[in-house]
Amino acid sequence: MDIAVYSTKSYDRQFMDAAVAKDHTLHYLEARLTPDTAMLARGSDAVCVFVNDQVNEVVLKEFRSLGVKLVALRAAGYNNVDLGAAKRQEISIARVPAYSPEAVAEHASALILSLNRNIHRAYARVREGNFALEGLLGFNLQGRTVGIVGTGRIGASFARIMSGFGCRVLAYDIAPDPACVRIGVTYVALAELLAASDIVSLHCPLTSQTRHLIDAAAIGRMKHGAMLINTSRGAIIDTQAVVDGIKSGAIGHLGLDVYEEEATLFFEDKSDEVIGDDVFERLLTFPNVLVTGHQGFFTSDAMAAIAETTMANITSFEKTGHALHEVA
Ligand code: NAD
Repeated sequence: MDIAVYSTKSYDRQFMDAAVAKDHTLHYLEARLTPDTAMLARGSDAVCVFVNDQVNEVVLKEFRSLGVKLVALRAAGYNNVDLGAAKRQEISIARVPAYSPEAVAEHASALILSLNRNIHRAYARVREGNFALEGLLGFNLQGRTVGIVGTGRIGASFARIMSGFGCRVLAYDIAPDPACVRIGVTYVALAELLAASDIVSLHCPLTSQTRHLIDAAAIGRMKHGAMLINTSRGAIIDTQAVVDGIKSGAIGHLGLDVYEEEATLFFEDKSDEVIGDDVFERLLTFPNVLVTGHQGFFTSDAMAAIAETTMANITSFEKTGHALHEVA
């Protein structure tokens, strides 16, 4: 098959080239998929996209007219896909449901440890010859309560890590997992989780139910000064409400790997540009906020697994008319 690969970076080529079967041809495109760039898929049977590519009705209509039959996501989340439009345009959608949940769970843990022990500040200080400890006071994780929203593959892996630190682990999920209960996780209502947790970590998908799940009211229910971690999808948090929560002290630490308006920022070098997003820039001014640019998935193990499963989806679709991991 001929496959147009959108939003390609050097690291995508490295892992996709290693995984591609001989009978497929990959056409690497640096462009992000939008209605304006959809026509770049001309001549392709399938399209491969990433998290900030727009797979909406306009794009899917264009794909249909170009003869594209499959959109293969190099990701687990598919909130950027209009599934109804895909059905109407008879285009199959495939994803990579589980590539390496540990990659994201370990990144969430890295954010917690960095924020708690102020590693981000200590790194900068020591390089300036400043060895003072004022402002670097942390707390032990052992014995603290961690609340996990969404105990799917990533949330369950994160629960195992937090249990290893000796934390009490609470969870809220619309479908509790008995395997999590067996390792000591206690399922509670969301309000109870927010009220009892020293650290709240979000691992549910972005859906109409979870959009702005953490808004001003939810922040009001949280333990004063709790740490909030989001490695899932930006819009699960109302960012302006979180900024207000940090200013009031309601949120003591914030770790983000995702941001509501990340599509025009993340994955690009913007260091020579003036960033016009005032909410994002305000976040970066706080000493107790640590933002990474959607790199939770970015380990060699995960990248290899993503490329292999994406290729397996495409090969299966070519041979049987069905991808291995179809969405809906
Ligand atoms: P998963 O499907 O295995 O688990 C999601 C869990 O959330 C399930 O247990 C589900 O029951 C639960 N859930 C769904 N709706 C809920 C709701 N309204 N309230 C509470 N729980 C709810 O998914 P996963 O592989 O664990 O991934 C979770 C999310 O992590 C993805 O949807 C994606 O947005 C994000 N993600 C981020 C990165 C990154 O690089 N930062 C990488 C991969 C995935």
